[in-house]
Amino acid sequence: MFDALIIGGGAAGLQCALILGSAKNKPFAENKHIGIIVHQKTSHLQTALFNNVLGLAPGTTGESILNEGKEQLKALYPQVEHIENEKVLEISKQDGIFNVKTNKHTHKAKTVVIAVGYTNLMTIKGLEPFTEPHPRAAIEKDRIWLKNTDHLIEDN
Ligand SMILES: Cc1cc2nc3c(=O)[nH]c(=O)nc-3n(C[C@H](O)[C@H](O)[C@H](O)COP(=O)(O)OP(=O)(O)OC[C@H]3O[C@@H](n4cnc5c(N)ncnc54)[C@H](O)[C@@H]3O)c2cc1C
Repeated sequence: MFDALIIGGGAAGLQCALILGSAKNKPFAENKHIGIIVHQKTSHLQTALFNNVLGLAPGTTGESILNEGKEQLKALYPQVEHIENEKVLEISKQDGIFNVKTNKHTHKAKTVVIAVGYTNLMTIKGLEPFTEPHPRAAIEKDRIWLKNTDHLIEDN
């Protein structure tokens, strides 16, 4: 059982894992089991090239950030469990606990963070009721979001 399970190993997912990992010495994070389904295949960063980002050497690729991000997380916060080679197919909730079904296993979690980008969410069953066109993107870009208030879709 995870206390917090992050889905997606792109920019948002890895950053979230770093922040949760960094709380390890705080009382509220004591003995908490945190995991990340670190799927990166469809990250938008895979094809990104950074030339004008403060602090990044021009020519830095998104691919390198993805690879190094995983290593950074492992080195700094080894207590965060990496789940490799799994893709989420369905999320459901029973008695207040989430069942996160992948192509290989079903993981149980008290809290789920969904960080799968803004394009291909519809492949995860169970998210349809929350999915809407992204309110801040041009309609022709066909971007979506999970309807939320300050990033909270529903409790946990
Ligand atoms: C050419 C290019 C240049 C860009 N340049 C910049 C830039 O200069 N600055 C900038 O800020 N942004 C830039 N971007 C945009 C940036 O890449 C995105 O804003 C960023 O990647 C979004 O992060 P994210 O974590 O929300 O999504 P993503 O990075 O797309 O990550 C989503 C993750 O979820 C995973 N995933 C998807 N479905 C599932 C599933 N069913 N189960 C498990 N995991 C799943 C994916 O594999 C992926 O790793 C650029 C994008 C491109 C394409």
